[in-house]
Amino acid sequence: MIILVINCGSSSIKYQLLDMKNDDVYDLLAKGIVEKIGLELGMHTYRPSGKEKVVKELPIPDHKVGMQLVLDELVNPVSGVLKSFDDIEAVGHRIVQGADFFSGSAIVNEDVMEKIRICCDFAPLHNPAHILGIRAMQQVLPSVPQVVVFDTAFHQTMPQYNYMYGLPYKYYKDYHIRKYGAHGTSHQFVARRGAQLAGLDIEDSKIITCHLGNGSSITAVQDGKCLDTSMGFTPLAGPIMGTRCGNIDPNIVPYVMKKEGLSPDQMTELMNKKSGFLGLSGFSSDVRDLNAKAEDGDARAKLVFKVFTHEIIKIIGSYIAEMSGVDLIVFTAGIGENNARLRRRVCENFAFLGLAFDYETNAAAHSDAIISLPESKIKVAVVNTNEELVIARDTMHLVQESEE
Ligand code: ADP
Repeated sequence: MIILVINCGSSSIKYQLLDMKNDDVYDLLAKGIVEKIGLELGMHTYRPSGKEKVVKELPIPDHKVGMQLVLDELVNPVSGVLKSFDDIEAVGHRIVQGADFFSGSAIVNEDVMEKIRICCDFAPLHNPAHILGIRAMQQVLPSVPQVVVFDTAFHQTMPQYNYMYGLPYKYYKDYHIRKYGAHGTSHQFVARRGAQLAGLDIEDSKIITCHLGNGSSITAVQDGKCLDTSMGFTPLAGPIMGTRCGNIDPNIVPYVMKKEGLSPDQMTELMNKKSGFLGLSGFSSDVRDLNAKAEDGDARAKLVFKVFTHEIIKIIGSYIAEMSGVDLIVFTAGIGENNARLRRRVCENFAFLGLAFDYETNAAAHSDAIISLPESKIKVAVVNTNEELVIARDTMHLVQESEE
């Protein structure tokens, strides 16, 4: 089944075209990104498998024009990988927030669209863009079934004692304020893949998955289900991130707003876009830049790594306590897959529990590998996350079921 996977942001469309033979066997036909939608000059970078990359700069006023550009490239006689649009059998969309409406993926209909719309309140930066993407796709491919896959769905198994906040209960009832988590598709994927690599039965195991990228979250996965996760009502909670502050004393919020005369929107922007690695270091949100500076002796760049590392250690420690043990710790995403030093520093703290670290394998690992020694009581894995594959699998299953 040929499936187009879409990850729509407010000014970008990331996509992959996959030919799914079954859950594990597939061909990546093409991938790409449409950027700077709505700006004077947009950009489309298209990478067909086995053919030359195509980069085009042109005005892309809205998502519909962006989607049309993608489709035109996919069927282009020179750069294309399909004969016609009709070859696309389904479209799968990544949706950041599905709140407690969705504990799994769903085929798009108007009821589903209304629920995604209600969830815009909890993900104002993401969900409106996803809606634009679905509507644009409905216009350009009206007869193709569309599926939505939620970043929050995997976390819906969290017990209530882990998703409630200590606020008056009425805010939970009236405004749906609770922990929802995020990156669920990634946590689910890497927990399964990590268990496979470590020879564990996912249904009978205690796993901690660390998705460490520009946004970072850590999840306790017990017997294949999410027990707890570090992101919260929104993806701002958890460890310090690229530009997000992560967990802070909530009283800091009104204090800074009063001191600086900030509106709620300005404070939200400060915490989401100007804090974290960027805010603390004063120069970059990117770990590669911070590494270079830290190596030159920059004290604040070094401090960022210390804060990040220790927050990760504290969250992992709390999840080990919560599950009364851990069989496997998995590292994934940009930092988790590529930063061997961070993995080493985190894992060294758990030597007292019998974690025996494989320094040599760790130093070279960027993709699926076990980086603990055979005698280790806690196994450690690096896994390349693949959220697009999960979206394609779910899309394939739902569309096949609906056709039966
Ligand atoms: P996003 O959350 O935007 O998907 P990523 O998972 O791509 O983010 O992670 C981005 C972070 O990963 C950045 O801090 C970047 O420096 C780091 N990173 C990505 N690739 C590498 C690499 N090859 N080597 C070192 N760090 C990397």
